[in-house]
Amino acid sequence: MSHQLLISGYDIAEAAVRLDRAHPADIVAEALDRFPGLSISFSGAEDAVLIDMAQRAVGPDGFRVFSLDTGRLHGETLAYIETVRERYGITIEAFSPQAEAVEALVREKGLFSFRRDGHGECCGIRKVEPLARALEGVAAFATGQRKDQSPGTRAELPVVQHDGMRVKFNPLANFRSQQVWDYIQTYGVPYNPLHDRGFKSIGCEPCTRATHPGEHERAGRWWWEEATQKECGLHAINLGEA
Ligand code: SF4
Repeated sequence: MSHQLLISGYDIAEAAVRLDRAHPADIVAEALDRFPGLSISFSGAEDAVLIDMAQRAVGPDGFRVFSLDTGRLHGETLAYIETVRERYGITIEAFSPQAEAVEALVREKGLFSFRRDGHGECCGIRKVEPLARALEGVAAFATGQRKDQSPGTRAELPVVQHDGMRVKFNPLANFRSQQVWDYIQTYGVPYNPLHDRGFKSIGCEPCTRATHPGEHERAGRWWWEEATQKECGLHAINLGEA
């Protein structure tokens, strides 16, 4: 049984049911209508699809885009972020980790502690804390998560959910990977060139590898860890942690 949760007067449980079969562009349109200036979390191709949909709905000044510059991204990813900024004529707010926290981690444990300790501590410093700053004062935001990205953690992903006291829209939750790529090709949405080199899911450089044919897309992320832990803390709610 779902219980009603209202955030800024928005009934999340009702919306999650009503929008479950809606086209992602319609979900983006409702999110922009109910939360003008909606924040979009940008890192990859799915997020660029959301930006494209938002741009078509309200133009470049009707939404906000932020990105987490962890300091460990591929050069190709940085170039891609710039490509999207120029293509859509938007500002992309980059949030970097706290220098003191990164310096302390590296001093104490070196540059690859995640290979021994798991990715939680490093992601906490480089992603989760900057995300909290990016979302300060934000009532609603949108992500490009999909159910079929990760059977271990995203199989039950709703199109709308609460994230603390915010509304989190996942307009692409029910899109399959092929539908995302169909949209990208139809509308000429920019994508990270690493996809053409066998990378399906792209995160930080040391924690991402190309996948083999037949491997699931998340197999290339934190491949030394269990599939049920493959979230970076940005989406801890998928692990039942938030
Ligand atoms: S993905 Fe890897 S390098 Fe990036 S923040 Fe997480 S553990 Fe650190």
